Amino acid sequence: NSFNGDHSGDLTSRQTPGVLYSKAIPTPVKNPQLIGWSDDLADQLGVEILSEDDVRILGGNLITPTMYPYAACYAGHQFGNWAGQLGDGRAITLGEWQTLNGDSWEFQLKGAGPTAYSRRADGRAVLRSSVREFLMSEAMYYLGVPTTRALGLVTTGDMVMRDMFYNGNPQYEPGAIVMRVAPSFLRFGNFEMLAARKDVANLIKLVDWTIDRYYPHIKGEDRVIRWLKEVVEKTAQLIIEWLRVGFVHGVMNTDNMSVLGLTIDYGPYSFLDNYDPEFTPNTTDLPGRRYAFGNQSSVAYWNLGCLANALVPLFETKEALVEAVESYENIFWQKYYAMMGNKLGLDKVLDSDLDFINRFEQMLSSVEPDMTIFYQLLAELKSDKITDEDIVEHFREAFYKELSSDARTSFLQSIEAWRERAAANTISREESLKKMAANNPRYILRNYLLHKAIEELERGENELFLKLQLAMKNPYSRDFDEFFMKRPEWAIQKAGCSMLSCSS
Ligand code: AMP
Ligand code: MG
Ligand code: MG
Repeated sequence: NSFNGDHSGDLTSRQTPGVLYSKAIPTPVKNPQLIGWSDDLADQLGVEILSEDDVRILGGNLITPTMYPYAACYAGHQFGNWAGQLGDGRAITLGEWQTLNGDSWEFQLKGAGPTAYSRRADGRAVLRSSVREFLMSEAMYYLGVPTTRALGLVTTGDMVMRDMFYNGNPQYEPGAIVMRVAPSFLRFGNFEMLAARKDVANLIKLVDWTIDRYYPHIKGEDRVIRWLKEVVEKTAQLIIEWLRVGFVHGVMNTDNMSVLGLTIDYGPYSFLDNYDPEFTPNTTDLPGRRYAFGNQSSVAYWNLGCLANALVPLFETKEALVEAVESYENIFWQKYYAMMGNKLGLDKVLDSDLDFINRFEQMLSSVEPDMTIFYQLLAELKSDKITDEDIVEHFREAFYKELSSDARTSFLQSIEAWRERAAANTISREESLKKMAANNPRYILRNYLLHKAIEELERGENELFLKLQLAMKNPYSRDFDEFFMKRPEWAIQKAGCSMLSCSS
């Protein structure tokens, strides 16, 4: 590592001017117990659990001589405001691992104790949030969404104090640690930190290094701007994938935006149950709803503006940077309509389809059916003549509320428009259904399912946890139809089932 680092190993929270990272030794835990392991990922990486020592590594209790544990220093804009220095406050990178095919992966423990960047917090994570990150990052991978991965999950045997938002008294919860992996956990905020410090020398070094390592095909004089354009493209693609599966990240601060276009830092996220573009799962995000489902695209654009802003010291004028960021809009909409076309089983998206797609989306936001179930039922709708009653009946399972007569009319109109458009496809019905099946998941990791799995784990049972882990490997199959179910009534108001708080 050729970057300026602080090698003192001092874990007191502090400002660390001049450095990009600080050495951070994990603080040992009482009794690490393995409760989650991603077999396929382990195979892909060429790692396995051979002995108790490996579990000690996952708990942060064993550092081998080939590791150099550190916490990265970054900054960021949180809820639209400059937040200054942040950094890995509860994540510690152990080092990088090279697979046989030459890929390099950063291994990180999340919840392994304080670092220089923990501010007033404890550097720990509770079982609840760790299970959520472990299951969800893997679920996203199998959905085909770019994401960091989760390799292992251990309970620590220690209790962690948390202020629960529904109860003013401090509560103790079991602690846990996730080992997560990614080619890199670099964020927009790493670049913002250096720009804010006016540390242009290191900024240039970090940009060059990022391009050489993660964008090696970009060469030449204008490489920085071409790199930014690729980050714009990847970020647009990421948001498209979130919209396709109904994912709401919940905390799209610039310190939670990956420069590799990965979903990163799973916190108070949620899938949509009822299709409500204004839904935010993050209690801290009320009442502004900055990070609501339907806002994610414009927030991504705003965040890209922050990244471009951090690159200003590398340019004589801002023109090219502005142009690169503004390219987002076109890229996004092009990808958006293509994605919607795939969900709807269209052969291709014609200019004349844009209006149809817009209306269809408007209908969904006013009727608010269960997004996942709706698209499954859409694919199952018979192509022969069918009465309005039968159509409404066919979709019954997707509705959370009785349709008003206006909603019913708009619903039937959209379905009819879709049937007409599907009939005009130049591809066969089979091909169209194949597209729909490949783009519309049947199983998503709903918050209430996670909530139930976590409650079980807290009692020492892992049946649902393991079943969910397995089911989410095949979200487009029909192998686990016990999870093809809309959110039950009881889950709407229950804490942790719909809304969540930021850090846990
Ligand atoms: P987030 O938005 O959850 O990704 O976190 C924002 C910042 O707070 C990051 O710099 C985290 O490292 C830090 N942070 C969150 N929770 C903790 C914790 N329990 N201990 C130390 N730092 C934390
Ligand atoms: Mg974060
Ligand atoms: Mg609404």
